[in-house]
Amino acid sequence: MSNPVEDAPELPRSNFVRDIIVEDVRNGKNQARVHTRFPPEPNGYLHIGHAKAICLNFGLAQEFGGQCNLRFDDTNPTKEEVEYVDSIMEDVRWLGFDWEDRCYYASDYFDQLYEWAVQLIKAGKAFVCDLSADQIREYRGIPGQPGRNSPYRDRTVEENLDLFTRMKAGEFPDGARTLRAKIDMASPNFNMRDPVMYRILHASHHRTGDKWCIYPTYDYTHGESDSIEGITHSICTLEFEDHRPLYDWYLENLGIHHPQQIEFDRLHLSNTMLSKRKLLHLVQRGYVSGWDDPRMPTLSGFRRRGYSPEAIRLFCSRIGVSKTNGLIELGLLEHSLREELNRSSARIMAVMDPVKVVVDNYPDDLVEEMDAVNNPEDPAAGTRHVPFSKTLYIEREDFRENPPKQYHRLTIGREVRLRYAYLITCTSVEKDASGEITVIHCTYDPATRGGNTPDGRKVKSTIHWVSAKHSVDFEARLYEQLFNEENPDTEEDPNKDFTANLNPKSLEVRSGKIEPSVRGAKPLDRFQFERLGYFCMDRDSTGEKPVFNRTVGLRDTWAKIESKGR
Ligand code: ATP
Ligand code: MG
Repeated sequence: MSNPVEDAPELPRSNFVRDIIVEDVRNGKNQARVHTRFPPEPNGYLHIGHAKAICLNFGLAQEFGGQCNLRFDDTNPTKEEVEYVDSIMEDVRWLGFDWEDRCYYASDYFDQLYEWAVQLIKAGKAFVCDLSADQIREYRGIPGQPGRNSPYRDRTVEENLDLFTRMKAGEFPDGARTLRAKIDMASPNFNMRDPVMYRILHASHHRTGDKWCIYPTYDYTHGESDSIEGITHSICTLEFEDHRPLYDWYLENLGIHHPQQIEFDRLHLSNTMLSKRKLLHLVQRGYVSGWDDPRMPTLSGFRRRGYSPEAIRLFCSRIGVSKTNGLIELGLLEHSLREELNRSSARIMAVMDPVKVVVDNYPDDLVEEMDAVNNPEDPAAGTRHVPFSKTLYIEREDFRENPPKQYHRLTIGREVRLRYAYLITCTSVEKDASGEITVIHCTYDPATRGGNTPDGRKVKSTIHWVSAKHSVDFEARLYEQLFNEENPDTEEDPNKDFTANLNPKSLEVRSGKIEPSVRGAKPLDRFQFERLGYFCMDRDSTGEKPVFNRTVGLRDTWAKIESKGR
């Protein structure tokens, strides 16, 4: 199988965001400071798209000796929860980034934002509007034609101040009034057609409790929060490009520190859903076991599945950033993952579909400890002992009674190598009434201990095995992509049931036998099961029967291993 991502670049390339910063630093803009922020809304768990934004913001700050803040964009009290705040902090740390003592909340700025709103009212640049949400939409008009001014647009400053104070005091019900910026109802940019700054919402907030019953909108909050924190480069995704004139308008009209907003492309990953709203739906309706289900594209899901933070960072540096949205192949993420796990994971032998092998000429009660290399990519990882005895398990697939031509593994009369142990030759098989093989009989050559052939004779295949009486039963959870469709993320028809596209085979539970060194493993430890793939011990794995999530298969298919004649 050819791999389309073989030529992926190794190192972070320069990109247009970085170029802007290089230029600003060279020109001494903002006293040559670089200060970025990562501003999640705490309404869900972070996903791989957020990782891209995190790596970009924290990475640029690191590179230029600057700082990056973590800021919770918590202006929407009805959807936000403390659970999400906690998970976001855990995930950013896990990815390897540190906001030091700079964790902020937009809600910390509610008093300041209110004062600035009063300032805009006094300057005649904001007004209280009594139109309903539907009416506001109607007055806003259609593209290509100017909208209509609100009939409340020309209220006096005194009346506006009085009404805004009473909005804050809780005199009016939800939705009765809004505070709007007075900009331009004829602007070709809809965001500039007297946008709403405050709405009435009698709801408790996860931090401010019941102090407020008016809440600022995202657009009114974001730039000012950036300004308060002394941000220099406010990096966000492309859908905010049309909001930039409004971002600029608020900062200019308030006359406060003015960061530069820069937009980059959102990550879309094939066969992957990255909408928090839809991911929440999957969790709430039980399509997955939770936000950290190993099939979820959340950072907590990837962590539980066995992704390392290094692999995700490598992927983020490879995809880079640009000014146009595209679809990235899931294969590129898996490529970075395999590359990193190959470097870092301990090897272990496990058999997923066991069939018994009896080595007839091996002494009945003898047990030998074979030396096995823990990680051929990392000599410092050392070796371990793997017990060998008369009765073993091998993979059912590694024996064929009637082998096809290119099949080099075990068959009657053929010799193969048991990894780290001996060369064995198959002599006969036993079958049950249905014809299924129950025991494979072999002999071993005592002169080949460690898998060496002193006479230099060649065997074409090396297979893995476990000693039957020493092996440990384990549960393997094998995953496939959650969505069948290539681009489930961009489906915009809200009436279409996106769950119809879920892959019914996304989880398969199997059990197998694994070598006894597994007893030393802890939850979330990562392994390469020799010849099978990368696996990670589940976070809830305890006690007698360990549970492993398959992170990703090995790149080589069985066919490729065979043709290479291992
Ligand atoms: P959603 O629409 O799924 O709720 P969001 O953009 O509203 O996503 P936020 O919590 O507001 O989610 O995102 C925090 C930051 O992460 C923002 O700066 C946002 O631009 C960035 N981000 C979110 N999703 C992606 C993505 N798919 N690719 C790159 N950056 C992203
Ligand atoms: Mg958002």
